[in-house]
Amino acid sequence: MTSLSKLAGIGVDELRGVGAKHAEALGVLGIETVLDLVTFYPRRYLDRTNQAEISELAEGEQAMVLATIKKVTSRRTRQGRMMVEADLFDGTSYLHLSFFNQPWRAKQLREATPVIVFGKVERFRGRWQMTNPVVDLVGDRTGRIVPVYPQSEKAGLMTWQLADWVAEALRRVPAFDDPLPRRWRDELDLAGRDWALRHIHQPETVAAAQKARGRLAFDELLRLQVVLVMRKRAVERDAVGIRHQVDGELVERFRDSLPFPLTGAQETAIAEIAVDMAGPHPMHRLLQGDVGSGKTVVAVAALLTAVQGGHQGALMAPTEVLAEQHHTGISELLRDLSVPSDQTLFSDRPVQVALLTNRTTAAERTRLLARLEDGTADILVGTHALLTEKVAFTSLGCVVIDEQHRFGVEQRAALREKGPGEVVPDVLVMTATPIPRTAAMTVYGDLDTTVLGELPPGRTPVTTRWARGPVEEASVWRTVLEQIAAGHQAYVVCPLVEDSEKVQARSASEERDRLAVAELAGVRLGLLHGQMPARDKEQEMEAFRNRETDVLVSTTVIEVGVDVPNATVMVIEDADRFGIAQLHQLRGRVGRGSDQSWCFLLGEGRGPESEERLVALERSTDGFELAEVDLELRGEGTILGTRQKGATDLKLASLRRDKQLVATARQVAFALVDEYPGLEGLPELADEIGLLLDEEDRAFLFKS
Ligand code: ADP
Ligand code: MG
Repeated sequence: MTSLSKLAGIGVDELRGVGAKHAEALGVLGIETVLDLVTFYPRRYLDRTNQAEISELAEGEQAMVLATIKKVTSRRTRQGRMMVEADLFDGTSYLHLSFFNQPWRAKQLREATPVIVFGKVERFRGRWQMTNPVVDLVGDRTGRIVPVYPQSEKAGLMTWQLADWVAEALRRVPAFDDPLPRRWRDELDLAGRDWALRHIHQPETVAAAQKARGRLAFDELLRLQVVLVMRKRAVERDAVGIRHQVDGELVERFRDSLPFPLTGAQETAIAEIAVDMAGPHPMHRLLQGDVGSGKTVVAVAALLTAVQGGHQGALMAPTEVLAEQHHTGISELLRDLSVPSDQTLFSDRPVQVALLTNRTTAAERTRLLARLEDGTADILVGTHALLTEKVAFTSLGCVVIDEQHRFGVEQRAALREKGPGEVVPDVLVMTATPIPRTAAMTVYGDLDTTVLGELPPGRTPVTTRWARGPVEEASVWRTVLEQIAAGHQAYVVCPLVEDSEKVQARSASEERDRLAVAELAGVRLGLLHGQMPARDKEQEMEAFRNRETDVLVSTTVIEVGVDVPNATVMVIEDADRFGIAQLHQLRGRVGRGSDQSWCFLLGEGRGPESEERLVALERSTDGFELAEVDLELRGEGTILGTRQKGATDLKLASLRRDKQLVATARQVAFALVDEYPGLEGLPELADEIGLLLDEEDRAFLFKS
């Protein structure tokens, strides 16, 4: 039997037919070992039974043709574009190919070689032709199903060369180990590993290739899930948490002090968190909820649960603006609450909420650190600054991380280490925007999950319109003026010109000046951007809140947290430059009261993808649905990022297409890890996971 790690130890140049030159070309594709080669999967398959003869082609159809290259020419068009043309003949008729801006085709396409082309058939000047078709140099393959390997042309290799070397490798491996216990294979009706590796490269039918893919994709997801589940179980097993007193008075009083009843979803979330916090192991939970679903109240309840037992709470936000806003918001929520004071036995003192960012002055900082250490600061809100070593708590009991995919696993770990002694504080991670369920299972797979799937009552859904041109834009500004006349307020968000706060700030203030003499002449305009001193920002926000300004022109700093129910219009300029999640966040700033609200997206759309984004926003106000669209449009790379462990191991599996498989893999991972906490009894699986992890993870997971 052969393990993957054994194959990882054999260089591709040891295969017959792979010379030094070929090895170099394979290196371009990232293929260095035999393992790399056998896990370099076909991009797709050509089913030769679908092949058409040129004489039978029909205009406008997609067709696949096997033919021989007769003639290749290249020239420049009058517009200066490079054009390569080829004529093909298949024994029945001729087919003309044109390639624009692909000069390398001139070298790739050699006369007298057989190729398979796939594309849309056009009729031009009495002959059949295709423009920029997909071309595969398959050689004279005879099988019915021909695998096509990705990017081979660019590396100067033919897809059939890859197929030959893979065949050679497979021939020399007697049998591949199967890391998945037989019982699971049967239960899930999955193919065996050996069969799958052979049939993904050399399938007899398309169905066989699909079955092989299913098994191998499952394996990728399983490896990832096993790592995540092991990490989760390790935290639960090894870490000592605080058994918080969850039925204390403080949380009760907090709930009573709220001007609204909690939603059912908030109640459930708070109850789940209470169970975690009462337990002996530290909480490690993800709180997901759409914009405006009321995550803050849930987070504060968790923090107060720690505070009521004499511990402290911390809330970490990804930006200074957000930290400041959370600080203001939470201070407001807790204004009338007090805790028993140590100083005098019979008196109470207000719950103390402190703020720490990079803008905190040295003097304030010193004072603050002292208050943290003597326990007179109850809740600390801040940015990454919370992570520095100087920040020491008397007894940190609960940490809330409000992240926007910006904090990594390592940073969560750093915060956990700030608990008293060996004790690990409870951790609640909040995502500012929903992410699809399967993505959450992967990105946050080491966490338990709570979803706030319900908005507080009394919200009127925001009407969203994409203003596609000047006429529609004019009517947008009319609506803004009408709303102001009716006593409401509006936001105008300025384009994200560049990824620089400075440039953004300038463009926002220029836009304010422009609007003041153009569309919004006579309206009281405020300005908010990230480069303003904290005090000015506070003043601008205060002025807007007090209705001293009608329109707040700003950069995306208002994306999160700003809460002015009287504002009913959100205008987003150059909306086509923003991602779906950000647009949804921005839109969430309106529709917070009971009045009809609007969100207007300005911009022409740059290409089909940005148009689809804007259309999706018009169509749906459901953050989870939009998250699915986003994943669909952008692919998983953006969600996983390169730092996600095992992301590079996902060659076949897709969080988008393989939703069911992700869930199944997670379920199997729990079963396997709970049976074999250190993977003892699953040596092949442990071996493979070890192969795909870095040192740090190995040390963490397999420490005895
Ligand atoms: P998000 O989940 O986007 O962080 P917030 O916590 O900022 O949402 O809450 C959004 C708004 O809804 C705030 O104005 C908050 O006071 C209000 N809110 C929260 N919970 C409720 C509730 N149960 N009933 C009514 N309003 C609520
Ligand atoms: Mg919030």
